[in-house]
Amino acid sequence: MLKLFKTILKTGEATLKYPFAPLPVCDNFRGKPEHKPEQCIACAACAVACPANALTMSTDAEAGTITWSFFVGRCIFCGRCEEVCPTKAIVLSPEFELAVANAADMYQHATFKLAKCAQCGEYFAPKKEVEYTADLLKHAGMTTEAVESISDLLHTCTDCKRKQNVPEADKVEFTRYLKGNEA
Ligand code: SF4
Ligand code: SF4
Repeated sequence: MLKLFKTILKTGEATLKYPFAPLPVCDNFRGKPEHKPEQCIACAACAVACPANALTMSTDAEAGTITWSFFVGRCIFCGRCEEVCPTKAIVLSPEFELAVANAADMYQHATFKLAKCAQCGEYFAPKKEVEYTADLLKHAGMTTEAVESISDLLHTCTDCKRKQNVPEADKVEFTRYLKGNEA
């Protein structure tokens, strides 16, 4: 009997207190993706990369909005969304308890405004994504004035750019910047 007690003491606790205490998981555990709408720019990179179609984007041209949606029932916890997100707006959390009482709770949505093209007036890109692009240019060294001077270019849809509707002054300014000739 004494030998048995000694063995038990030596072994320590062989069971975990879960579910009465949180279950520790490893640092790189891939649990439920957590989305931070305030950091999201609605670029759709995660939806494009998601191999399980758990992430989707849908636009409402009438309302001028784009909606990011996540259905945890399809998620395979691969982490591709986290890898491609440019703003760290989606990261895999340690959360693994996914049971819900209401099926609607398996879905998450976040809606963002779209920006209108300065040339044709059509909605063409998420407003936050256009602002993010302008911020990136400033971060890369372009002055606020220079970024403002190409505002029309930043707010021009691909179709209008193809049709060369972009004002010449904007094109010249942008080209100068790309060549690193900014005064
Ligand atoms: S973890 Fe993988 S399957 Fe789940 S939402 Fe992200 S990309 Fe899609
Ligand atoms: S990749 Fe990131 S920023 Fe882009 S839509 Fe997905 S969560 Fe938002």
